[in-house]
Amino acid sequence: MQIRGVLAPNPGPFTLDGTNSYVVRDADGVWVVDPGPGIASHLDALAAAIAAIGGPWRGVLLTHDHGDHAEGVPGLLDRAGAAPVHAARGAVDVVLADGDTLGPFSVVATPGHAPDHLAFVVGEELLSGDSVLGRGSVFVWPTPGALSGYLAALQRLRELPLRRIHPGHGPLVADAHAKLDEYRAHRLTREAALISALANGHRTIDALLDDVWSEVPAVLRPAAAVTLAAHLDKLDEERRLPAGVERPAVPETDSPEV
Ligand SMILES: [Zn+2]
Repeated sequence: MQIRGVLAPNPGPFTLDGTNSYVVRDADGVWVVDPGPGIASHLDALAAAIAAIGGPWRGVLLTHDHGDHAEGVPGLLDRAGAAPVHAARGAVDVVLADGDTLGPFSVVATPGHAPDHLAFVVGEELLSGDSVLGRGSVFVWPTPGALSGYLAALQRLRELPLRRIHPGHGPLVADAHAKLDEYRAHRLTREAALISALANGHRTIDALLDDVWSEVPAVLRPAAAVTLAAHLDKLDEERRLPAGVERPAVPETDSPEV
């Protein structure tokens, strides 16, 4: 079994160095997880990697349908040949759900960053998409139950015998368990800081962001507001939210990076 990352040239505040597309080869053939953005040079490189690795071309899996992961699907199929596309939602050939298996992959639902988000386990390797990044943290999209669902997904991943994480953005993670612990601790630290900001009387979005997300650069503040909304939802669901807290307006799309 082989996993080869191909980095797309779409760096940015949300995508870090760019999107990592992965070519996965096992005894039965070759797959791509997240073709990435529709950038011709990237799709050429991905098609070349598929050809170099060789083996029957089995198709595409998507961790989620944000443009920086999914936009390249048609361009990749043009280059590599028609093959089924697998994802949790959208106009795809095969809809995947938690617990499914496909070729060498086991599917783990990892809602949080996007409601349709999936991670793929291959042996002791995790292809995490945007549920866990190689550095920094992800933003959580505030659909109902998103943050509690995300924390539960991190916990489920933590219980698997994983060795490494191949993330959607950022470098390979050599110690999967340590990274998953770090991610869970990060979210719980934010929650504790938010609870104390609320206890100190802060009620506006600006005051809460200034207090709890003070280190976040201006360009990421709207994403921090989205994550704040998910944290407030969780406290509300748990009946721990005081009255009179201003709630961030959430944009229509769950894909602010495109
Ligand atoms: Zn992404």
